[in-house]
Amino acid sequence: MNNSIHKGLSYARRMYLPRTVGLGIGFFSVAAAVYPSHPPAWVWALMLFHGYGWPHVAYQLARFSSQPYQAERRTLIYDSLAGGFWAGAMGFNPLPTVTALSMMAMNNIAAGGPRLFVLGCIAQLAGSAVGYWILTPVLFPDVTQIQIYACLPMLVIYPLAIGLVCYRVAVQLSRSKKALEKLSTTDSLTGLMNHGAWKDLLTVEFNNCQTLNRQNSVALIDIDHFKSINDTYGHIIGDNVLKQLGGALTASLRETDLAGRYGGDEFCVILPDTTLAQAGEILERLRRTVHEHTHSALPNLKLSLSIGIAAYGPHLTDAGMWLHEADMALYDAKSTGRNRVTSAQPGVKTALMVR
Ligand code: GH3
Ligand code: MG
Repeated sequence: MNNSIHKGLSYARRMYLPRTVGLGIGFFSVAAAVYPSHPPAWVWALMLFHGYGWPHVAYQLARFSSQPYQAERRTLIYDSLAGGFWAGAMGFNPLPTVTALSMMAMNNIAAGGPRLFVLGCIAQLAGSAVGYWILTPVLFPDVTQIQIYACLPMLVIYPLAIGLVCYRVAVQLSRSKKALEKLSTTDSLTGLMNHGAWKDLLTVEFNNCQTLNRQNSVALIDIDHFKSINDTYGHIIGDNVLKQLGGALTASLRETDLAGRYGGDEFCVILPDTTLAQAGEILERLRRTVHEHTHSALPNLKLSLSIGIAAYGPHLTDAGMWLHEADMALYDAKSTGRNRVTSAQPGVKTALMVR
């Protein structure tokens, strides 16, 4: 289904409950106000239809419209027009008039902001003029006891219905916001953190090392000759290899370790409270596991990893420099034969290069 149709339909569904409740109970306040002027039968028929038939007709109009959002907005304007009509028909009896028109205005501003509110007010004014002109009711400025009681359900129940709708929208919005946040920090292929999210965490962990005196290590992991895997088996298999490596990383690291996909065939890990020697053991285990793994469907597909690790040290001035040390170690692993874990030599080849 087209996205705008879907959104329009959910908008119409949201409006369905407040309209059904509001017009259903609004019938009583209008009826109590109109009754003393003894209107003709067609007015009662119209009032009944508006109170109990129109909400369902309006919903079906939106459902079967090719533009449900626009259909629903039109319905909100008709509602205001009709609300104004009944205010005129009631001879502007103050309590039911203010009740009906203010509740409709509240609905309009909740559903469409100030613009719909203003359009609704104009429609209410027009409707009032038509209602008063057609029915020229006797004015009843005194509000009777019955009219007060007839307005009470509207005053109590309708705001609750609007509140419920607003609450549902707020919950939906908060869910969407969380999903969006997750999406913006996740690598879509592997499900690991993406480059940006991981680098933000690297800065946080670097600051932790500086201020809390923690001993963290960082690792950069690169698949050896990954291009030839793509060339030999195709990019879909290449993607699967990346996905599986993402899974292997999560499985072999500890819960506190923070793994991400740096980009392409390169992965990155922050290992909190881990010395260089401990990091070396953990990543050597990963390297061996990956290297020894054979794919039943592709027995010739052998994977090896080059890994560079660097521990935090007081000589590092920023997170970029720390990462650069790990990068240099990875470069050493590549240039000395690949398929190995290499530790950074603190202070060696650390000309700052922020990637
Ligand atoms: P080295 O041992 O020096 O790392 O060699 P390599 O072939 O792994 O290195 P290189 O950087 O030349 O190649 C990385 C390849 O990864 C190139 C690129 O086409 C491929 N690649 C990057 N992102 C993706 C991806 O999302 N999916 C797939 N299938 N391939 C990707
Ligand atoms: Mg590579």
